[in-house]
Amino acid sequence: MIESDNGKFNNNSKSDKDKLDKGKSDKSEGKQELIVEESKSFLEWFRDEVPEIQSSLAAAQVLFECKNCGECCKGEGYALVTNEDLQRIADFSGKSASTIFSQFTDPDPEKREGCRILKNMGPERICCFYDARARRCKIHEGRPEICRTFPMLSIDVEQEEPISLYSDCRGTADLLKVLKAKAKGTEIQNEMKELQEDADRLATLRLMLFMRQLQIAGREDEAEHVRMLAGIRLPVDEVQFKKDCLAYVLLTLGEGP
Ligand code: SF4
Ligand code: SF4
Repeated sequence: MIESDNGKFNNNSKSDKDKLDKGKSDKSEGKQELIVEESKSFLEWFRDEVPEIQSSLAAAQVLFECKNCGECCKGEGYALVTNEDLQRIADFSGKSASTIFSQFTDPDPEKREGCRILKNMGPERICCFYDARARRCKIHEGRPEICRTFPMLSIDVEQEEPISLYSDCRGTADLLKVLKAKAKGTEIQNEMKELQEDADRLATLRLMLFMRQLQIAGREDEAEHVRMLAGIRLPVDEVQFKKDCLAYVLLTLGEGP
């Protein structure tokens, strides 16, 4: 008898144990093969389908620092929410998704399938979750994806601009100043040259940016899956990663050596 729970085997069980071990190893080999196959398909898909502009926008979002001015939480725009966003807000706030739906959202004016918008309040059209006195989002950790990815990643990649220019966003203005100030520095020019000449490093950076984009959007499970398929090792050296992001954004802005 094999006592698999505590790992003990009786004297006559060697062949059973061998069979069991073989079964386990066949299973894990099969699983490994599936992962290798999935990884191959993912890398092919990534190479053929993910535009470079998406990587540039992700790199810009990594460099972007929000100044908490609250401008993007009021005015003419609105925050689009999907069913996933509703659930995330519900989980964070301890209310049900149907309560969030009925009390805090309105129909999407553009009638996108499965989408609503967060209610805007008063003449300034302030988002219903913005705390104007404390100048902060009341559901920051549970905020919708569009707020997490604003401003660089919350636009259509068809626009083909490596930076999303929002004149009212102080963070964007500051990022542009940083890019301008650093563009001609010797160190960053060397980084750009090295990145340009090293196709493998560039490809790895783009995969890391794809993973980071999912993390920024709050899609941790998908990010982890991509990390596994792309073979990205942790921990990521954040200082070097940010240098690479800066070099990548500047290259796409045509500031290369
Ligand atoms: S959910 Fe939060 S971050 Fe998004 S618009 Fe409303 S207040 Fe701003
Ligand atoms: S407008 Fe820009 S800097 Fe201001 S809160 Fe929004 S993202 Fe942050």
